[in-house]
Amino acid sequence: MATRRPVKKKRSALRRALETSWIEIILLIVVVALIVVLIVIGTSGDKKPAKEQAPTATTAVAALTQTVKPTEEAPTAAPDPTDTPTPTPSPYPIGLCESNTTDTEVVSVPGDNWKVDYLMLVNWNYRLKYTGDPENLVRIDSILTEDWYSIQNPISVAESERNFVIEKEDDKYERGNREVLIHLDEMCKGYHAATGHGVKVSQTGGYRNYATQDRFWNNRDRSIDPPRTIPGNASEHRTGLGFDIWVLDGEKYDYTWFQAHCHEYGFILRYPGNKSSITGITNEQWHYRYVGVEAATEMKQLGMCLEEYVEYKNSQPVQESR
Ligand SMILES: [Zn+2]
Repeated sequence: MATRRPVKKKRSALRRALETSWIEIILLIVVVALIVVLIVIGTSGDKKPAKEQAPTATTAVAALTQTVKPTEEAPTAAPDPTDTPTPTPSPYPIGLCESNTTDTEVVSVPGDNWKVDYLMLVNWNYRLKYTGDPENLVRIDSILTEDWYSIQNPISVAESERNFVIEKEDDKYERGNREVLIHLDEMCKGYHAATGHGVKVSQTGGYRNYATQDRFWNNRDRSIDPPRTIPGNASEHRTGLGFDIWVLDGEKYDYTWFQAHCHEYGFILRYPGNKSSITGITNEQWHYRYVGVEAATEMKQLGMCLEEYVEYKNSQPVQESR
C-alpha cells in the first residue's frame, strides 16, 4: 500500500506535463492558423487579371463600362513607397471622351463646342450627350477648294429636295472638323492624282445636326435590318470626323484606291461589310472616318474595325509616361 502514493504522485505529474504540452500545442495551432489567414488575405488582393477575350462589340461594351464605373473594391492597403509611380490614368478610357457616354438611354442636352476625340466611338452603345455643334467645325468648301470637288451645300438645294434641317445660319453650309478636313483634302488630292477623278460631298455627307440625323432615323425604311441610319445621338456624322465621299468616275463608284490608301492619311473605312455584326451598320463603302495615321495603320494591320480596336487598345497595359 505504501508504494501507491509515489505512483499517484507520478501520474499527476505526468498529467500536468501533458496538460502543459496540450496548451502549447493549441497555442501553436492558433498561431499557425493566424499566419495562414494573414497570408491568404495578403495574396487575395493581387490576383492576375482575367484572361484576354477575343474582342467583340459585347466585350467592348462590358470592358469600357467596367473602366468607366469606379470600382467598389478598391484596395485599401497603404501604397508601397518602393513602387514606381504610375502615370495618372485618363478619366475616360480610349474611345470615350467627356462628350459621349455608355448610357444608351441618355437624354441629350443642349450645348455647343463639345469636345471631340479622334478615337471616340459614337454608335448604338456610345451616345452623344449634346444636341449642339461640336468644336472646330468649319465650312467644307473653305478647305476643299480644288475645282474637281463638288460640294453640295444644303442652301444650294431646293427646299423640297433638301434633306438637311436648317436651324441656324451655319446649317446652310456643309461643314466638318477643321483638322480632319485638312487630311481629307490631302487624301482626295492623292486620289485625284492617281485616277484623275473628282470627289463629291453631298449636303449631308459631313457634319449633320441633331435635327437632321433624328429626321433620318424617324423616316427610316423599317424593312431594312440592320438599319442604314441611326438615331440623332448615335451617329458619328454629328462629330464632324466622318464623311460620305462620292467618287466621280462616271457611272460606277470605285473605292478601290480609297480602301488601299486611306490609312496613309489617317482615315478608316468605318462600316465595312464584313463588320456589320459589330458596327450595327450595313456596308458603307463611301463613309470614311478620321482616327489618325497611327491608329488607322494599326487597324488595317490588325484587320479591326473601330469598335474592335478600341476594345483592343483598352486591353493593353497602361503605357509608361514618356
Ligand atoms: Zn456616312
